[in-house]
Amino acid sequence: MKKEVVLSGIRPTGFVHLGNYFGAVRNWANMQKEYDCYFCVVDWHSLTTHPDTRELRQHVHRLLSELIASGLDPEQCVLYIQSDVPEIAELYLYLNMMAYKGELEKTTTFKDKARSQPDNINAGLLTYPVLQTADILIHRATNVPVGKDQEQHLEMARNFADRFNHRYGDVFPLPKAFNYGKDLIKIMSLDGSGKMSKSENQMNTLYLADDDDLLRKKIMKAKTDGGPTEANSIKPEYIQNLFGLMQLVSHADVIAKFEADFNNCVIRYGDMKKQLAEDMVNFISPIREKAKAIENDKDYLSKVIKQGRDKARASAAATIQLVRNAVGVNY
Ligand code: ATP
Ligand code: MG
Repeated sequence: MKKEVVLSGIRPTGFVHLGNYFGAVRNWANMQKEYDCYFCVVDWHSLTTHPDTRELRQHVHRLLSELIASGLDPEQCVLYIQSDVPEIAELYLYLNMMAYKGELEKTTTFKDKARSQPDNINAGLLTYPVLQTADILIHRATNVPVGKDQEQHLEMARNFADRFNHRYGDVFPLPKAFNYGKDLIKIMSLDGSGKMSKSENQMNTLYLADDDDLLRKKIMKAKTDGGPTEANSIKPEYIQNLFGLMQLVSHADVIAKFEADFNNCVIRYGDMKKQLAEDMVNFISPIREKAKAIENDKDYLSKVIKQGRDKARASAAATIQLVRNAVGVNY
């Protein structure tokens, strides 16, 4: 039986952090066996907000290395770079003819980005959901593992696919947002002020590339307070977040001890953070070292990039032929 097709992408805008790892990449790694998976470094998307490309090459290489070190297996999934597949740009062009200015301007992410970069409200930013639709439809993918922030884009992707099918004939299955296993987790920044992010709030985000001392330093600085004064109190969000991080990297008995200390009002946050820092270092350092080794092995990386490009283009070329036939640009 043909496996269902999964597609997801990540922008090469900075270092991979714990939120990317637990919110996205770990799920991707878990899907590789069961699904026909395409994972894409979406470099064209990063140009909408990061026009300076001096570090792009380095970012793409490091991101690929970090994805592989986090469990993506280029033999099991198709791991590739968006700009290596020009068929995506062609599909983007056709889809742009059925995306309307009004609906694009209403997109939440567009409004946010337009507010944060008023001097660069470019057409690429406006049509971001169209390019994302092309990323998905180029492999006729149906399952798109994304976070909550992306649900509106997925709805737009379904609309564009549906309009194409109505106008030119049934080419695309309709894609849907997809959760693998449990609910997706959102990892908050260590000061409790927002989410961990590649491009914002970097001293409060834990990156897979951070060295051991930096990880310790960031965790020891995490926001706490004087501790609870009543037994079994509700935890403030920033304390809940520290327990949440422990859930991801610490042993059950360690977590149980600090839970009990909290409930009995005897918790010492300094000790808790020290423990969390050591468990985090033990978790992150092997991934970091593996990523470094991969990034230094340029021959291996070129092989991975070429292999991904070949597999992604084979799938994309088959779809673009269907699209050209349906649209009628096959002379
Ligand atoms: P940027 O700051 O450049 O937007 P980002 O950290 O938000 O970077 P994206 O490339 O936008 O990362 O997203 C990649 C994937 O990681 C998406 O599936 C997104 O939902 C997920 N993700 C990003 N941040 C978090 C977080 N703090 N917790 C859980 N998942 C996250
Ligand atoms: Mg983001």
